[in-house]
Amino acid sequence: MTAVVTGAAGFIGSTLVDALIAEGQRVVGIDCFTDYYDVPTKRSNLSKAMAHPAFEFIEADLRTADLRALLDGASVVFHQAAQPGVRLSWDDGFPTYVSCNVLATQRLLEAAHRVGVERLVYASSSSVYGNAGVYPVTEEMLPRPQSPYGVTKLAAEHLCTLYAANFGLSTVSLRYFTVYGPRQRPDMAIHRLIESALDGTPFPLFGDGSHVRDFTFVGDVVAANVAAGAADVEPGVVLNVCAGGSTTMRELISTVGETVGRPVPVDRRPEQPGDVERTGGDGSLARAVLGWEPQCQLADGIALQAEWHRTRRD
Ligand code: NAD
Repeated sequence: MTAVVTGAAGFIGSTLVDALIAEGQRVVGIDCFTDYYDVPTKRSNLSKAMAHPAFEFIEADLRTADLRALLDGASVVFHQAAQPGVRLSWDDGFPTYVSCNVLATQRLLEAAHRVGVERLVYASSSSVYGNAGVYPVTEEMLPRPQSPYGVTKLAAEHLCTLYAANFGLSTVSLRYFTVYGPRQRPDMAIHRLIESALDGTPFPLFGDGSHVRDFTFVGDVVAANVAAGAADVEPGVVLNVCAGGSTTMRELISTVGETVGRPVPVDRRPEQPGDVERTGGDGSLARAVLGWEPQCQLADGIALQAEWHRTRRD
């Protein structure tokens, strides 16, 4: 059985690759090293996997590669590749979001359908919900993205559902809620907070710190993927992958300060367009369908991430 992981050099993709290899699977990783953030960081995410005989890495762009050839022989595809982040998805950033998130996903689905892949797990996002008004959000609620990024993640999710409904391709879409942990992307809040605490440099806080997030540890997200790769589910199913917590930015800043052992200096800035006030998911469907349970408490996960930041500096 061969698993294909797209976005294999990224934060979540590389963590998933390591977990699948540890489970004894043969893994093919695909990534084109986009410049959304530092490419050497992405290469180092993969350094452990690269040394393993069960792993093959293919540097390829999903927008242009011969995907049928790449997926030939794959039983499960874990589609993690995307142009991430809300803030750069406006203005002339948008075409990259459309091509990497929507067009690339359509090409991958078409190839997966043609070569007869057994399961395709898609990394969707809580950003499809926008400002929902009622929390925790459930999968039945009408998605109303608040950012162009969210629009592209939802469009790709709809494509998964379409390929399931029309061709029987067994897709599972997992809506991740703000993922954190070792290897977290450098543009994400917990990464920047830990770096600010370690360096004593100001953290730019957009808004008044009242934004609420449901932070989900990367190990739990990876476990949900592994379960979704094998579970007996209806094709096209959509599931929230969330820890179910409600943490304000103010609380997060003090938790990071306590964990690192130094307070985070804060530089207040105006609200950013596209940022939602709150994310908060109901994970009961994923629990029922996947038998999956988030394990990691926020303070423990932040401690693991802080340790990763310190190790990188050694
Ligand atoms: P990441 O940027 O670290 O990883 C994405 C990887 O995809 C990168 O290594 C990039 O080079 C690769 N990639 C992008 N476009 C590609 C293309 N056209 N061809 C080949 N490779 C390409 O991001 P991440 O935080 O690990 O996110 C992984 C997935 O999870 C994404 O789909 C993202 O939308 C989704 N997601 C992430 C979060 C989060 O909190 N990190 C939350 C919700 C959803």
